[in-house]
Amino acid sequence: MENLDVKRGISWLDERINAMRSFEGSLLSYVKYSKTLKSNVIRLDANENYFADIEFLKATFMEALKEVDLRLYDPSMTFKLRKALAKYLDVAPECVGVGSGSEHLIDFVIQSFLTRGDVALSIVPSFFMYAKRVRLRGAELVTVSLKEDLSLDVDKILKNCSNKTKLIFVCSPNNPTGNQFSWHDIETLAESCSALIVVDEAYAEFGDGSVCSKAVEKENIVVVRTFSKAFGLAGLRFGYFAANENLASALSKVIPYTVSTLVSCFVVKLLNKFEVVKGWINEVKKERKRLMKRLGSLDEIEVFDSKTNFVTFRLDGNADKIYKGLLDRGIVIKNLGALPVIGHCLRVTVGFPYMNNNFLDTLTQVMREEFSA
Ligand code: PMP
Repeated sequence: MENLDVKRGISWLDERINAMRSFEGSLLSYVKYSKTLKSNVIRLDANENYFADIEFLKATFMEALKEVDLRLYDPSMTFKLRKALAKYLDVAPECVGVGSGSEHLIDFVIQSFLTRGDVALSIVPSFFMYAKRVRLRGAELVTVSLKEDLSLDVDKILKNCSNKTKLIFVCSPNNPTGNQFSWHDIETLAESCSALIVVDEAYAEFGDGSVCSKAVEKENIVVVRTFSKAFGLAGLRFGYFAANENLASALSKVIPYTVSTLVSCFVVKLLNKFEVVKGWINEVKKERKRLMKRLGSLDEIEVFDSKTNFVTFRLDGNADKIYKGLLDRGIVIKNLGALPVIGHCLRVTVGFPYMNNNFLDTLTQVMREEFSA
């Protein structure tokens, strides 16, 4: 009998494993990188929400823990959760589904609708994860640049679509450009092609509202959202989506049961106390305005408007050195590299005022040293 030694080398399996090995998820790369940091750094690189009151979150979590019976599968809790999210989004409960963070749901949509030979389209610059996950799936990714004013180039997107194009990713507000796209453009895309439009609204609470209530009227739009940003719960891993009933109920049937009864109960409680979360969102917006104004007053820097909890700014030619200078002084922001349309940019999360002041003062110092050198 053939010796089934693992070292035998099964070519198709090796090929898939190698594709997985080269993949760096956002969380994996973050874990690796955080090990290299000192403990007293100011971290403004991952768009987490420091304004979320941790004591309030813990107390609400404890209320949920006391209420649920973790010995049981409890479908009624999932129903309560979908109902609460539906009320929050102003859609019907049948239009809502849940998962473990929006990245999980984005990946689930990719797995469900893309096979080898299919094509997905992403705007650029945008969230890098779409491209990585599409390629991991063995499908092709086509990119279309935003216009100079950072709006969607609807004509160009449509020209780049074929009957092989199954998904179009539209991140709105967009990471990293910070702007939100018009419903008119999103609707035109949905009506003019047969692809499923995946609208990623991770940052929508910091912007000018959601497209959810209109999107559920369309057959080919799914809006993916998260509790990692406005609700300050990146570590909780909770995401949800809204789509027309036909699509949402089909997706909900096949998504594995990943949201625990405890998390479901906690999320329902938080939605019932949304006025508290609204306060955090308002604080982020207020601080964002101040941060943008002070950044914009610095020479050599061009600041992009933001409908999110981060601010992106251009520092062509010097971005790497400035980034490194900040890192050496314990301020961690995100080096976006040289991007299409917007050039070489850095991105900073809106932190507490003392964090932002520290960042701004250090940036001023690093730039002074850099430009006088
Ligand atoms: N979409 C965008 C645009 C993001 O920036 C991020 C994370 N930064 C995600 C999705 C993933 O968020 P989650 O924590 O819900 O997986």
